[in-house]
Amino acid sequence: MTTITDRDALPQQRNLRTELPGPKSRELATRRAGAVAAGVSSVMPIYVARAQGGVVEDVDGNVLIDLGSGIAVTTVGNSAPRVVAGVQQQVADFTHTCFMVSPYESYVAVCEKLAEVTPGDHEKRSALFNSGAEAVENAVKIARYATGRQAVVVVDHAYHGRTNLTMALTAKAMPYKLGFGPFASEIYRVPTSYPFRDPEGMTGEQAAQRAITSAEKAVGADQIAAVLIEPIQGEGGFIVPAPGFLAALSKWCTENGIVFIADEVQSGFSRTGKWFATQYEDVVPDLVTTAKGIAGGLPLAGVTGRAELMDSVHPGGLGGTYGGNPVACAAALGAIETMMAEDLPGRALQIEQIIVPTLKEAQADTPAIGEVRGRGAMIAIELVKRGTKEPDAALAGAVAKKCHEQGVIVLTCGTYGNVLRLLPPLSIGDDLLREGLQVLTQALASTAG
Ligand SMILES: *Cc1c(COP(=O)(O)O)cnc(C)c1O
Repeated sequence: MTTITDRDALPQQRNLRTELPGPKSRELATRRAGAVAAGVSSVMPIYVARAQGGVVEDVDGNVLIDLGSGIAVTTVGNSAPRVVAGVQQQVADFTHTCFMVSPYESYVAVCEKLAEVTPGDHEKRSALFNSGAEAVENAVKIARYATGRQAVVVVDHAYHGRTNLTMALTAKAMPYKLGFGPFASEIYRVPTSYPFRDPEGMTGEQAAQRAITSAEKAVGADQIAAVLIEPIQGEGGFIVPAPGFLAALSKWCTENGIVFIADEVQSGFSRTGKWFATQYEDVVPDLVTTAKGIAGGLPLAGVTGRAELMDSVHPGGLGGTYGGNPVACAAALGAIETMMAEDLPGRALQIEQIIVPTLKEAQADTPAIGEVRGRGAMIAIELVKRGTKEPDAALAGAVAKKCHEQGVIVLTCGTYGNVLRLLPPLSIGDDLLREGLQVLTQALASTAG
């Protein structure tokens, strides 16, 4: 058996041996076209052989800088040693019994860790699932059950997944919803806080009042089971709400018996420089959904929240065949231990200190950069037409393409498709990160002028 210790470490250096994608990747693309559904697409179609630290190596021997982490998943890095060790041991011991049939310790241990690291020191319980969307669905189930109410309030630019309920909760039609309806009912969308696009000077409290008024008029506070919100919006454009917005919304929820659900699937687990992004706002959500960064790349998700809400559901009301699979739980314990031992929230702040000044400097010479925003290792630039706030999606696409050609994996996002987002693994070295940023700023300078 090959283990992480006797495998060669992957050199942490960008190295392009062929054009991208190279011949072996192109061969695989041909096979793929005859076997894989076209609806599943890839941003950067190099086929991966290995990945570690801050790099991804493809089947042609090209080594690329990873500023995407497989969409904020490999926060601890790919094949992080503690994750690999835990998975190897677990997969040799047993692979599955189903926690609903015969339980095992690692599921319990992950729930204990979730209680420890999520915001608030109240009594908590957790349930584990396979994906972010499944966690969000279950958080809504629990909130509805506990309150006996049906309505769910979500905000503009929200992204919560691709299952039927979570498509309804998600704001953007193309590509997530178009043609996939009908959607679930009793979902009400209200304005969020988007400082770059809100009226000049609008405070967080004012934006919250706008959302609250909209919810009260559309449905009525006493009908609402939950307000569901990403504390920093991910796919919607890395939108950081104005200070006070989340706190005011959460306060209104508490006063009206509404469950405040923070969807921390993308922003959680050290990504933003704290364990959870709500901690920046001193907000204690009633329920928190987690996934992505939780298990170093294995599929795992959780709903964690107030014991009285979580325990309100009858036995058998929550679960699933694979939820909290033992191999995924072993990976999560390895990932969480890595975050603690290596102070990865602190590392995310160091990464912010490298990324933000570099991008702000670029902004000074590039009028197309409307805003640099985000927290920790979750940073984005919003691109606009010179001298306006008009979104420039074509520019974002062109800059991303240039980065990809140079062997730097960057992603775009945003309701208008005009946001370039950076989500490096926290295991990336400073020099490699700086090199990736240099490629990005050069791509900006040559494309945006
Ligand atoms: C990615 C994401 C989801 C969906 O997670 P999946 O694992 O893809 O189902 C839900 N909410 C947020 C905020 C996300 O970023």
